[in-house]
Amino acid sequence: MSLVYDIIIIGAGPAGLCACLKILAARPATSVLLVDKVVPWEKPIACAEGVWTDQFREAVDVKPGWVRFNISTVVLHSADGSAISHTARNAGCIIDRARMQSDMASRCAALGAVLRLGVRVIGIEPVAGSTREVRFADGTCAHAAVVVDASGPIAGLGKKDKIVCKPPDLEPACFVIAENAGIEPDAIHVYLGRDLAPGGYAWAFPREKNAANIGIVLGNSYRAKVNIREKLDSFLSKNYPHARVLGRFAGTIPCEGRPIAIAAPRLLKAGDAASAVNPFTRAGIVEAMESGTMAGAYALKTLLAPTAGRGSAYGEEYRKRWYNSLGKKHGKLSKTKDALVKIPDADYDKAFATLSKIPPNKRSISKIIGLSLGRFPRLVLAMRHLM
Ligand SMILES: Cc1cc2nc3c(=O)[nH]c(=O)nc-3n(C[C@H](O)[C@H](O)[C@H](O)COP(=O)(O)OP(=O)(O)OC[C@H]3O[C@@H](n4cnc5c(N)ncnc54)[C@H](O)[C@@H]3O)c2cc1C
Repeated sequence: MSLVYDIIIIGAGPAGLCACLKILAARPATSVLLVDKVVPWEKPIACAEGVWTDQFREAVDVKPGWVRFNISTVVLHSADGSAISHTARNAGCIIDRARMQSDMASRCAALGAVLRLGVRVIGIEPVAGSTREVRFADGTCAHAAVVVDASGPIAGLGKKDKIVCKPPDLEPACFVIAENAGIEPDAIHVYLGRDLAPGGYAWAFPREKNAANIGIVLGNSYRAKVNIREKLDSFLSKNYPHARVLGRFAGTIPCEGRPIAIAAPRLLKAGDAASAVNPFTRAGIVEAMESGTMAGAYALKTLLAPTAGRGSAYGEEYRKRWYNSLGKKHGKLSKTKDALVKIPDADYDKAFATLSKIPPNKRSISKIIGLSLGRFPRLVLAMRHLM
């Protein structure tokens, strides 16, 4: 196996796979090594797998078998049990990430990428001459003109560079796959409440055979203060008493809304490694795909740059382009989230009770804001960050 590549991509998640496909579609002659510490599609993926259909289809060429369920209804529950729902036919879907990532990796290999799965990257060395060295846990190493780090939220690579090595604001999340949950196959449920999920929310998304993905995410500031597993168990016994747990999983969601350094000379971060997650919804699949695709394009520009200086400038261009496409919006959403979590449950309970009385077909944003202005000023004030 050659140990020198044009581009090394670390992580065969949505970000790394999209980066790889972008590079090889644009310039088939590029030599690319795609490396992952595991075979991701052979392990349970810590994710609820919900995406917005339009965004998903824009981000990737969706293949048959990647969608488990089409989702038409979102039900929001407040702490006292009041609920409001919104229905839009097939607006979202629950995907099968293992199937998708396996198919995408096969496509990468068919286009010429070398896949090295089951070996962990332990370090990315600073630029020496015109390459970087990537070191593996088995003692081997490889060199590349450009490295894309799409290793997810906690790998902590790039310590020797002026770049974010672990995203700040990491939120803990855990979930179960449970059968007999009784969730409609075309609806997702989101539960709010300070006691239920401080700083975050709980969810229940459908899975095959009357099973469900039921989980909880907490705000970063509650990491060490709240036992998330106990919170999930009490949520399950209260809301899904008949569900039988088949497996338990945990993960971390990077929710930083402020701009962070995602590029260094010949090194670009993408996806969760670059904190590309929507900090409000905590959705990161499509965001990782968009970020990975963008990182792939800039990795190629860096590779082909006529001078080292020009190559480094592409890193800065990449950072700016990400900021202008989604980063800026994520900043506003993060501020909104911070303001909303400070509002007492009672405000949400009242707002949900009021809004649930408006017939769903008349529940327009202007109507909601008009109604809320006088009655729930704190909620409206929190939303100002979105303006
Ligand atoms: C519990 C939970 C539920 C979620 N639910 C949703 C949801 O419903 N919808 C949504 O849009 N988003 C959801 N997310 C977020 C979403 O999972 C991530 O944003 C998304 O997976 C990011 O993709 P990525 O490619 O950046 O990283 P990842 O998917 O994490 O991929 C990174 C890859 O890098 C590999 N890797 C890590 N370290 C190394 C190393 N040192 N060497 C080599 N390889 C390495 C890993 O094995 C992995 O395959 C959820 C997250 C969690 C934790």
